[in-house]
Amino acid sequence: SDLLLTSSYGFSCDHTPGFASWSILPWLHRLEGKVAIITGGASGIGEATARLFVAHGALVLIADIQDKLGAELAQELAPNASFHHCDITQEQDVEALVDAAVRQHGRLDIMYNNAGVVGSINTSILDVNIEEMDKLYAVNVRGTLLGTKHAARVMIPVRNGVILATASIAGVMGGTGPLLYSISKCATAGIIKSVSAELGQHGIRVNCISPSGVPTPLAVSLFQEQFPGITIPQVEDYMRNMSALKGVLLVAEDVARAALFLASDDASFISGHNLIVDGGFTASKAIPS
Ligand code: NAD
Repeated sequence: SDLLLTSSYGFSCDHTPGFASWSILPWLHRLEGKVAIITGGASGIGEATARLFVAHGALVLIADIQDKLGAELAQELAPNASFHHCDITQEQDVEALVDAAVRQHGRLDIMYNNAGVVGSINTSILDVNIEEMDKLYAVNVRGTLLGTKHAARVMIPVRNGVILATASIAGVMGGTGPLLYSISKCATAGIIKSVSAELGQHGIRVNCISPSGVPTPLAVSLFQEQFPGITIPQVEDYMRNMSALKGVLLVAEDVARAALFLASDDASFISGHNLIVDGGFTASKAIPS
């Protein structure tokens, strides 16, 4: 009799001899042997992506400034992950990180520019503090650009690679995030779109992901600045309530699955794309219940 196989990610198929055995295995190991760097890999979306990429057979370099968290995660995922201290605002750090991937594994297949900071809650143009803008841009814009530059440096000669970045719906729709953060995420998406034109000539795909609110330390800290004393479950309730998919909370693993898709051969003809992961929020008039 037929056996129904269901993977941990909800995929199922009829297990008829000679059919399912070849159809399901590539799906379960979608990054087999691929070498990936994930910046901001110690926490939140980056951590979830590191776990998922390793589960799909990738060798992951976790890059972050949170050394303890990053090293602990790498130890948990060993031998398929390693931790690398890297401040993405510093070009020599990013250069050394990419060189470490090539030295350790012979190449770099996937560069996920995910590290980011949110800055303060300020949403008014009248309150703009230009020093704050420089700090935010150093990570969200300069860091993404440096990661893209050095990944391209080693990917172009071999005509192979995927470059990803985490932007945000704050860069897609006005009024959905602090002003300077929103502007910086427009730039993140802009880097990806602009660079994809050049790198497509070399067979390299370049895409970004724009999530809505995910209850990671970054988002929780922003809520706690605005509503002192708010708890994580309360932040989650707020996000669930704001969701266009009623009652559904976007979690880091959902964003990780979008990264997995874009990094894998399933997305082999997708480049220059901004994949919005927001349950339809930016496509509809939000109706809080
Ligand atoms: P997070 O705080 O859990 O993770 C961000 C990571 O980036 C941290 O580990 C931090 O140490 C690292 N980082 C910060 N500055 C760095 C630097 N200079 N060099 C290297 N690493 C650095 O937050 P997250 O929500 O997982 O954020 C990941 C990305 O997702 C960010 O780019 C963020 O803007 C974006 N994003 C988050 C949300 C959300 O609601 N959480 C929504 C849309 C987009």
